[in-house]
Amino acid sequence: MKTESLKTSAHESSVAVETSHIRRHFMPDRICVLTFDRIGSSANVFDRATLMELDRHIDFVERVPNLRGLVLVSGKKSIFIAGADLHAVSRMDTEELRGFAVLGQRVFSRIANLSLTTVAAIHGAAMGGGAELALACDRRVMSDDSATRIGWPETSLGILPAWGGCTRLPVIVGLAKALELIVSGKSVSALAAKEMGLADAVIPIGCLIETALEQIWLGSPEKRFQGWNNYVASTFLRTVYNHRLSNQRRHYPALGQAVDVTTRGVSLPVSESLKAEQVAIEKLFSTDTSKNLIHHFLQQERAKKRSGPESCVISNVAVVGAGVMGAGIAHWLAGRGVHVQLQDVRAEQLGRGMESIQKLFQDGIRRGKTNATEMRNALDRITPVQGDVPLRHMDLVIEAATERMELKCALFRSLVARSGPRTMLATNTSALSVTRIAEAAGAPERIVGLHFFNPVHRMQLVEIVAGRRTDPELVRRMVSFAQQIGKLPVVVSDSPGFVVNRILMPYLMEAAHLFESGAAVGDIDAAMCDFGMPMGPMRLMDEIGLDVAADVARTLTRAFGDRLGSPAILSRMLDQGLLGCKSSAGFYLHDGRNAKPNPEPARWLADHSATRFSRAELQQRMGLVMLNEAARCWEERVAIAPEQIDFAMVAGTGFAPFRGGPLRCIDTFGAARIVECLTDMVASRAGLRFAPCVLLQELAESGAKIFSKPGGKK
Ligand code: NAD
Repeated sequence: MKTESLKTSAHESSVAVETSHIRRHFMPDRICVLTFDRIGSSANVFDRATLMELDRHIDFVERVPNLRGLVLVSGKKSIFIAGADLHAVSRMDTEELRGFAVLGQRVFSRIANLSLTTVAAIHGAAMGGGAELALACDRRVMSDDSATRIGWPETSLGILPAWGGCTRLPVIVGLAKALELIVSGKSVSALAAKEMGLADAVIPIGCLIETALEQIWLGSPEKRFQGWNNYVASTFLRTVYNHRLSNQRRHYPALGQAVDVTTRGVSLPVSESLKAEQVAIEKLFSTDTSKNLIHHFLQQERAKKRSGPESCVISNVAVVGAGVMGAGIAHWLAGRGVHVQLQDVRAEQLGRGMESIQKLFQDGIRRGKTNATEMRNALDRITPVQGDVPLRHMDLVIEAATERMELKCALFRSLVARSGPRTMLATNTSALSVTRIAEAAGAPERIVGLHFFNPVHRMQLVEIVAGRRTDPELVRRMVSFAQQIGKLPVVVSDSPGFVVNRILMPYLMEAAHLFESGAAVGDIDAAMCDFGMPMGPMRLMDEIGLDVAADVARTLTRAFGDRLGSPAILSRMLDQGLLGCKSSAGFYLHDGRNAKPNPEPARWLADHSATRFSRAELQQRMGLVMLNEAARCWEERVAIAPEQIDFAMVAGTGFAPFRGGPLRCIDTFGAARIVECLTDMVASRAGLRFAPCVLLQELAESGAKIFSKPGGKK
């Protein structure tokens, strides 16, 4: 760090003192500006070194006589401060984490206690620790840019805002709003921040510093939120939130802690409220939940990072097949500026596809995701085409036609013939062999799997399937394409069902088997929601479509034998046209607002000897089936790392994120216990067709783990 003299006269405004991640300079009128500009990074984050550096700047600021104000600003294009450096956090041991939490709180409290006026001049995202720094300032001005947002996502990472966030936010916006922001973890725009009193001014980026300087002249605000922050109101809000979160709190302890600390804090002296933050975060840092959630977040960030050059943009795509998936893919691509030619052999299917795309955009407008102009522009980018048209000028063709091997082989022969030599060819198959399709088409190196999930606009994951002879460059281009369109890619090998369907299907089929053995639809679903799945397996089968699920199960049975076979009840339901949501009836009736269990299939089973299962038994049976299959996937190296299998399951199915994924669960429960349970279950119930896989047995014998520590490296 360079040394400097403590000169503060106006002519010093040009003297900038560089340390490492924070620059300091003086403006006329005795105002100091600290510019956060992390070297070698496009984002500002807080690690220990940056906090120490900020601490030294405050030492300096405190020593300058008659300083009027301090402005904190970012030197980055679209980020104020993204929060704590989670990479560093994920590598810290318990003592280091404690020290880090204490240090951040101490430095921010020093800023809050400065006798001069402090202003955060925010352009870009102010998240977590970055948003807490802003709260420690007397005033906040925000640019009106769409990249400028402020939020506290800590609870979604299994922790809570403990650098003064739970203490200072209710003072500024009131307890009710503060709880809403902290519990939801959602960020808000500058205008919304202004409306709730979080921002003092919202201005164009060009006026940011000027406005911050004006705010200094207004001095420190006297106002303290008076409305709802009294003892009775805070007790009332605590009760309301605890009731509202009663289901989630067991799996997400951070929610309960955040509500508790925030609501109690308003009636405590600041120092005690800050102490409560410390105690809570220390507890939360020691849980596997926070480690797993932070690990998943980091994996997600890694998957998002553009791997290919920005110039390799794909702008013309043909989507072949205008059914559920084709329409969903076309809608997503057009919304991201890609020109789409949507093809189908059937005119009426093409019309239905275009209708559903329009509906998806209209839903997006209702939910505030898009507007009428963007919708019109996106619809203009889609050209519906019937029949086999030339594809010479397409960058990419995505096949999303019916899931039949013969059909796809013939279709790809035609696609190869119609496309140009540089056109990339991809199939959206759920479970068929990409290698077989590619070889049958006579162009094995030109064809790749690009497996989107249903519904495309909600599911972020895309599996990129490398066939045996797929050109590795094509795989890289598809990873980059998935990132271009805002999806999260995972590269998997060409094994039936790839990762997600391979693990999901045995679980769904087990649920159907349990139903056939007498378990009620509602009990089966409740058991798995209790485990932490976003929806139960029976409901999920209705969403996917029983026909699609049966198709995939058939492919997997062919590859892996009866272990993945579907029960007779499923065929009977298909024969009766009970396909799930698409036919308004499946395991549930979907005619009203709330789906109700369909009594019909249960009636067919009425003469079966109804077996009673406890909720724990149901959970164990379905859960272990999934873990066993995940272990098989890793045993067969369907993905290059166990983290990738876990990441695909959490991102692709919503597998209980706080558990970290199925392989992480194996380590948490212990392979020996799992093998024992599976063996007992097979012995006690003739129905169970799952023996523990070799990897599980080896782990059980050796006591080894798949990962060396939760949230850590392998
Ligand atoms: P779908 O039955 O809704 O649509 C298939 C469409 O393909 C139909 O419109 C049909 O007319 C059209 N088609 C058939 N042959 C064609 C050809 N030769 N040329 C052009 N169009 C043709 O099916 P879907 O659910 O959209 O599935 C499509 C593909 O996506 C399948 O491979 C499926 O396994 C896969 N997939 C489905 C899901 C899902 O949940 N539905 C999820 C992921 C992947």
